[in-house]
Amino acid sequence: MKTYPVTETADVVIIGSGAGGAPLAARLAQAGKRVIVLEAGPHFNASDYTPDEIEARELYWLNERLSGGINPQAFGGNNSGTGVGGSLLHYGAFMPRPDPRDMMLHTETGMSVDWPFQYNELLPYIEKVEAFIGVSGPEHYPWDPTRHYHYAPPPANSAALKMRDGCDALGIRHADGPTALITHTIDQPHFGTREACVNCGACHQGCRNGAKSTPDNTWLPLAVAHGAEIRADCVVHTLETDQRGHITGVVYRHKGRDIRQNCDQLVLSAGAVETARLLLHNGLANRSGQVGENYMTHISTQAWGVFDEDLRPNRGYPSLTITEDMMRPKDADFAGGYLIQSLGMMPVTWGSLVARGTTRRGPELARTLAQYNRSAGLGIHGDCIPNPNNRVVLSDEKDALGIPKPLITHSYGPNELAMHAHASKLLTSLWQAAGAKDIRILDRAAHMIGTARMGTNADQAVVSPYGQSFDIPNLWISDHSTFPSATAANPALAIMALSLRTADAMLRQ
Ligand SMILES: Cc1cc2nc3c(=O)[nH]c(=O)nc-3n(C[C@H](O)[C@H](O)[C@H](O)COP(=O)(O)OP(=O)(O)OC[C@H]3O[C@@H](n4cnc5c(N)ncnc54)[C@H](O)[C@@H]3O)c2cc1C
Ligand code: SF4
Repeated sequence: MKTYPVTETADVVIIGSGAGGAPLAARLAQAGKRVIVLEAGPHFNASDYTPDEIEARELYWLNERLSGGINPQAFGGNNSGTGVGGSLLHYGAFMPRPDPRDMMLHTETGMSVDWPFQYNELLPYIEKVEAFIGVSGPEHYPWDPTRHYHYAPPPANSAALKMRDGCDALGIRHADGPTALITHTIDQPHFGTREACVNCGACHQGCRNGAKSTPDNTWLPLAVAHGAEIRADCVVHTLETDQRGHITGVVYRHKGRDIRQNCDQLVLSAGAVETARLLLHNGLANRSGQVGENYMTHISTQAWGVFDEDLRPNRGYPSLTITEDMMRPKDADFAGGYLIQSLGMMPVTWGSLVARGTTRRGPELARTLAQYNRSAGLGIHGDCIPNPNNRVVLSDEKDALGIPKPLITHSYGPNELAMHAHASKLLTSLWQAAGAKDIRILDRAAHMIGTARMGTNADQAVVSPYGQSFDIPNLWISDHSTFPSATAANPALAIMALSLRTADAMLRQ
């Protein structure tokens, strides 16, 4: 890897090496820019990963976040990661495309906000991402016959097969979901061999053989091959500006020392909580007053049922079966929609989810936990309406670097509550139809979205439709924080597509 002296001004510094930062790093480096990526977490070696859920905690962002509101969100492993590759190192690799209607929900329903551009502008970038990183999917996708996946799906695990039974009984269409993993071995340019998925089920503990498509086996090797430098274990805390208010550089903490790195352009890709926190802490780019505002999640209601036979939910790719039939249900009393996916899960994650999500305690909880091997899950990802009461602010407590810890307020509004109720009923019916007993609904929210929304009006948005700050022309944001509304689809694909789009905009200037 090429390295740059810290005394040299970089063309571009990118804070964060995940879904938002990595594609852009590769694209800009390919175009000849001197790119430095500053990543708070370490560089992991994939061959060191084990399926052990306790060891996998090294992949999680565990710095304390304070959580409030009526539906306080659980952080830690459930919602973000750290390390060279970001949260994608331990994501589930479920990779549906966003529904075009979700980007125009305000026009459709009068609720939420429209995105500042339509889906057809994002589609070419989505196709580029899928082709480059490797996404598997079915030959015919029932909800979009035009699309084509480059790899065949992995085998279905027991939860995926049970969901198919439930869907067939209720007349709901289903398919193998798009998954960001490869099912035949390839030579990934600038990385080397990526082995085919062996269906081990340990995606959330890090994929040992490179089958799961992550920045450290796709975008980042490409970036490095074109001269980008990735500095791990570097926590940025200060963004510096000149008298005009333009960014001049950043200061980061590395091995106990503060180091200044100057740059011509700065990209924030630290994720929806840390990006907002850095801007608020440094008092920057907030003329609109929107930094930290409109924090969103995906409604992620789950239903777990117990079957007569052993299902071994730890085995196989966890989330293969999908239905998008509920993207606009006919009987909906809410705006937007949700997709449903099947769920397998590792035992410690499942046990803590059950303990947190139900009121069962003592012998009743022990009896429930003992049913692990016969359990299978269904989960939704549902759209979330931006709400000015949900936000990230700086709390009164400080972290080890003396920076205020973030306080995240999160409450469902009427639309989210109606969607949760609809999904709870349907998931229960699906599991009943598949033969499950002892069905439990878990009310949960996933992903961290919003806080630096994009838009066309500088009074109402933090960045332009291309991710450029309205206040500071050499500051860009490329991560989950720019989404004006959540959209129902799992987010990584759209974040990566937007990242390439922002890179193109930067190169045009
Ligand atoms: C358990 C789990 C499962 C998921 N499953 C799926 C899935 O199946 N499909 C899907 O589409 N999405 C999934 N997601 C969501 C997806 O992973 C995230 O939405 C996405 O990775 C967010 O990308 P990002 O670039 O916004 O942030 P991140 O990927 O979190 O990247 C931010 C990076 O910035 C670094 N950073 C933060 N602050 C600083 C600082 N001050 N200085 C330097 N570096 C900093 C962090 O260490 C991190 O590496 C999952 C997420 C989790 C946690
Ligand atoms: S199931 Fe496949 S993609 Fe997931 S960790 Fe195992 S080999 Fe990797």
